[in-house]
Amino acid sequence: MSKKDGNNPLEEIQKQLQQLLKGQNVQVAFAPFMKAAAAQAEEEENEEVSDEDVPEEPKESFRGFDRKPKEIRDYLDRFVIQQEQAKRVLSVAVCDHYNHVRRCMESPELAEREYVKPNVLLLGPTGVGKTYLMRNVAKLIGVPFVKADATKFSETGYVGYDVEDIVRDLVKVADGDVELAEHGIVYVDEIDKIASASSQGGRDVSGRGVQINLLKLMEETEVNLHSAHDMMGQMQSIMDMQRGEKGGKRSISTRNVLFIVSGAFDQLAEDVKRRLDKNKIGFGPSEGKGENMSRYLAMAETRDFMNYGFEPEFVGRLPVRVACEELMPADLAEILRSSEGNVLEQFRSDFKGYGIHFKISDGAIDKVAELAHKENTGARGLVTVLERVFRDFKFELPSTALTEFSVTPEVIEDPAAGLSSLLEGNKDLMDVAMLDDVDRFAADFKQEYGFELRFHKPAKRALVELAKKNERSVYSICERKFQDFEHGLKIIHQRTGQDSFPIDKKTASDPDKELSKWVVTSFRGEEEDS
Ligand code: ADP
Repeated sequence: MSKKDGNNPLEEIQKQLQQLLKGQNVQVAFAPFMKAAAAQAEEEENEEVSDEDVPEEPKESFRGFDRKPKEIRDYLDRFVIQQEQAKRVLSVAVCDHYNHVRRCMESPELAEREYVKPNVLLLGPTGVGKTYLMRNVAKLIGVPFVKADATKFSETGYVGYDVEDIVRDLVKVADGDVELAEHGIVYVDEIDKIASASSQGGRDVSGRGVQINLLKLMEETEVNLHSAHDMMGQMQSIMDMQRGEKGGKRSISTRNVLFIVSGAFDQLAEDVKRRLDKNKIGFGPSEGKGENMSRYLAMAETRDFMNYGFEPEFVGRLPVRVACEELMPADLAEILRSSEGNVLEQFRSDFKGYGIHFKISDGAIDKVAELAHKENTGARGLVTVLERVFRDFKFELPSTALTEFSVTPEVIEDPAAGLSSLLEGNKDLMDVAMLDDVDRFAADFKQEYGFELRFHKPAKRALVELAKKNERSVYSICERKFQDFEHGLKIIHQRTGQDSFPIDKKTASDPDKELSKWVVTSFRGEEEDS
């Protein structure tokens, strides 16, 4: 592009922006940007806000909030096993907050008064239900919920993701409803990873900066709907203004957003234990290795958090502190037995998809829980163990005619042996299923090409034997053997009108050879006719 023609794209955009601000209609020129912006927004929605729960009953939810702490606890009991203390404390914090919100709406003068928001510091090891508790609370109240890792905000985390983005994510989850987003719940995990470097040798120094940024959000601040880096978003705002859509809010207030920050704080439990042991001579016999350290987390005080590397103001903005406890094998078993929507239900439904009724004995559940506990990842260990135990069953059983799968402790202990004995004991059923697969292939063939393949019993058996020998599915053996078969059949059909073909054992063993013979015969027949 020559300089002379003055067609510099940047200058052009600048010129158009100026015109735009002057109120001239240049929307056409911006159409490509707008399309890109829409596509980007959609992409971001899919990528970034993976951890979301769209509220069930928007708006009315927090406006007409009338829950009592015990009701919230009872609701949580349906999903979350144990964590009694956390359930009680969270129920109270949530009720206090949303009651305050409702009352401020009823009498705006209340909003002028000093209010200490019950932001929560949730401590405890991974996979014990911290997120699950809050996600369910948000669902019950009907407010949007977003979760992010504090490490995302640090210099070592995702470049370009700043703390304010999480508030903007609330708007996405609330489907653009800013008012609803302003009453949502933000969950920031791995907060212990942003303890500042001073006390935690060698840790990211940016931790302090992130704490201060988060602190501002937790207090009260106005977050712009579009980040400064979001060119498309900024342009969209200008376009909206241009179109006269001035009514919409351009920022989100965090005044009523409830913040939950959580972390495992492994080291903190040790520190608290040491402090208590030092202060209290005869605090009780040390339980030694393997003792449940999470109970020490419950005893952590502000000074412990400061020693850990947190700014006093930051800790001060988290008045509600509660610890979740480690889940023991019995708790993990209880999750599988009674927690609504637990992972076992998914396995049950996966098998049901193949017409297999999945049954698991109490002893087998205990065994799964025992193995899961050894994973040291809380309830997440259940998914790991179940996946490992059942992966081969999920692969093999759908190809058998089994209608019931009963899981015993032996199956959990040795899945490979369990699977072989199950297959061995149901050989007949397996054959039935495999023979049925030949029929399924014939039905699909007919639907696709309009020709009927009438497999004789010996032909079916031969195909089943071949599949077993090659450890392949019968269906794929049929597909391979009868690949391009339809072309020959079409020729025969054109000559003779025939559309149904018997497949005997000989044809099944070498379909192409037999097909050639059939084609030749069809020509001969025609010659004889003429
Ligand atoms: P974290 O404590 O690390 O936030 P999560 O709450 O994300 O752990 O737990 C992961 C998953 O494990 C949850 O989605 C839930 O299915 C299950 N889970 C964890 N703890 C419990 C619990 N106490 N009761 C029932 N299910 C639980």
